[in-house]
Amino acid sequence: MATHIKAVGTTQAKKPLEVMDIARRDLQPDDVQFQILYCGICHSDLHQVNDDFGLGHFPMVPGHEFVGRVTAVGSEVTSFKVGDLAAVGCIVDSCGHCHACRHDLEQFCEGEGGTTLSFNSPDKYMDSMTYGGFSQSYVCKEKYTLHMPDSLDLASAAPLLCAGITVYSPLKHWGAGAGKTVGIVGIGGLGHVAIKIAKAMGAHVVVFTTSATKVVDAKRLGAHEAVLSTNPEQMKAFASKVDIIIDTVSAGHEINAYLNLLAIDGSLVLVGLPSEPLEVGAFNVVQGRRSFSGSNIGGIAETQEMLNFCAEHDIVADIELISADQINEAFERLENNDVCYRFVIDMSTLG
Ligand code: NAP
Ligand code: ZN
Repeated sequence: MATHIKAVGTTQAKKPLEVMDIARRDLQPDDVQFQILYCGICHSDLHQVNDDFGLGHFPMVPGHEFVGRVTAVGSEVTSFKVGDLAAVGCIVDSCGHCHACRHDLEQFCEGEGGTTLSFNSPDKYMDSMTYGGFSQSYVCKEKYTLHMPDSLDLASAAPLLCAGITVYSPLKHWGAGAGKTVGIVGIGGLGHVAIKIAKAMGAHVVVFTTSATKVVDAKRLGAHEAVLSTNPEQMKAFASKVDIIIDTVSAGHEINAYLNLLAIDGSLVLVGLPSEPLEVGAFNVVQGRRSFSGSNIGGIAETQEMLNFCAEHDIVADIELISADQINEAFERLENNDVCYRFVIDMSTLG
């Protein structure tokens, strides 16, 4: 006896999304059920509906950064009550006892089945894959449901659930802060939030963008300096000067040009997910003892920490709020790098 709700998804890769009926599980004792108010559109949603990684299962309902209001709680739930704000990001379950889970790194769960993602993962309760936040409601275990600070604008805060944690986690891990120069490569959904978070951590923030308009806007977003990365002279000025680079670029690009910007012992952290391998030249890393590394979202405790940090520093995304019937147009614009800086769907329009 599941609950049937409306969602927006697709039955095949690279096909327009459409309104469909999906089922949510009945409330379990440790579950929180909430009505979804806003859901962001991440480039990973686009990669997945296009099946860029060959990992897609269809029908697919994307959406992994969403917020809403609690409508019911299971008998064992203690930290949420009906009417509270609730939010879900990428992770909705994990084994809970492997090394990674015990160290608050549920995104790297090594248990059987690994991390359950909010969409396109085998659903442990239903005879289907998990269906994401492009939908009217969600049911999630309390342990994986985040508390949304009520001081933040809800629609603009929704992207923090993926974009926010994906950049907060590596900035913290690699020590962004006072005295460090942080480079942000690619100023889309992730990149523009990274500028705000790195600045709030006290770092000197330099933006590297292929878009001339964003060079100007980067300063408004809080960057101290901005470089048009297609201009070799401007790039050269930062050679060996940057301590940490967060690379959010969603497509293939010349990574060596950015490795050359790293200071001694500097790290380039890849969070963008180009579907093709990137070529790294040996001399670009041996020189300066540089590191080329990566990072994947962040654990549940760290996601809550990031939300609290953003509330404290008044950080939200710059969004374009759309209705459910504009999702296909938004995907097309995201593909064409035509969004400043995150689309968020007003889920109440899925009536
Ligand atoms: P987005 O809003 O589309 O931003 C990507 C940015 O990359 C663009 O704004 C653009 O910045 C730059 N770019 C795009 N195509 C390019 C090209 N061909 N050459 C050079 N630069 C290009 O995407 P997003 O939502 O921020 O996501 C970014 C990437 O991170 C995606 O691949 C996504 O799947 C991935 N992601 C990873 C994680 C993780 O945990 N590792 C989590 C979320 C998302 P400029 O205009 O400034 O050049
Ligand atoms: Zn995402």
